[in-house]
Amino acid sequence: MIRFSKFSSIYELTSYFSTDEKCRRAIRDSRWENGDVICPYCGGHHCVERIDGRYRCHKCGSNFSVLVGTIFENTKIPLVKWFIAMYLISCHKKGISSVQLATDISTTQKTAWYILHKVRTLFRQDDSVVLSGNVECDEMYLGGRETNKHEWKKTAKTQGRSTKTKTPIFGMAMVWKTEEVNRRTGEVKEIRHSFVNAKKAKDARATTLIPIIEKFVAEGSTIITDELSAYCSLNPEKYNHIFVRHGAKEFVVGSYSTNGIEGFWAHFKRMVFSTYHFVSKDYLDRYIDESVYRYNTKEWDESERFLDMFSKAIGKVQYKDVKISIAA
Ligand SMILES: [Zn+2]
Repeated sequence: MIRFSKFSSIYELTSYFSTDEKCRRAIRDSRWENGDVICPYCGGHHCVERIDGRYRCHKCGSNFSVLVGTIFENTKIPLVKWFIAMYLISCHKKGISSVQLATDISTTQKTAWYILHKVRTLFRQDDSVVLSGNVECDEMYLGGRETNKHEWKKTAKTQGRSTKTKTPIFGMAMVWKTEEVNRRTGEVKEIRHSFVNAKKAKDARATTLIPIIEKFVAEGSTIITDELSAYCSLNPEKYNHIFVRHGAKEFVVGSYSTNGIEGFWAHFKRMVFSTYHFVSKDYLDRYIDESVYRYNTKEWDESERFLDMFSKAIGKVQYKDVKISIAA
């Protein structure tokens, strides 16, 4: 059970987690309830604390630290720095560079890069989450614009949706609305929500995109897409399909549009181009996961995001729990 209170600023966070001992205690109390320390190797209960601060299991004889099995395992970096880094990384809406993080927590850039890499693993999308209801699907292409390249570097026939120099990313946004009544005026305001799943795709053919949709979107859902021919292969017995014909300058069909997924693409591009400047194809999955996490938690405050990071860092919360709390 995680007990510590909300932090609305970095000042409040560092005042609370002022020493590594306090960080360790928070991890211990959150991992093991009522002081019952459980052995991570054999599951034995009531392990005892040794003089050096480690624990000993009576059942299997293992000695272990409170950090075993967390992202902090074997770290030589002070936990206080890890905690500040988790706060900074999760609250910067467009991400944070390793150079900036190194300055903020007084480490070398190499150490900051390592921390960023570790914390990013907590952003991983949970592939067991299935979207339903109204789901907007779309693809975008990441890669160099041919018009900006030197003549000798240009690749022929790479305009538009060609995948010769660009990598397609496929996105699905479950969209829904809620209403909020202003207590004073009685006015009803409509609030739009979305929950995104995005994946790097080999190409934008039906044989690639349709299986992704069938894996991540529940049958009986309504799929909203543009007029890309690949989407024509959607099975009408499984999905209700709405086309929004962008080529014909049509952007809304009844109450349907692709604005939810396009909002995510705008967010993704801002993060990639303004914070990271360049994203290697090999690491693209990680950047997609990070952007999806930030987008799906955009209604949360810094404190909620830190708590979620902390829970994941010690292996307490799965992404699907987060999804349920969003949709509720
Ligand atoms: Zn044991």
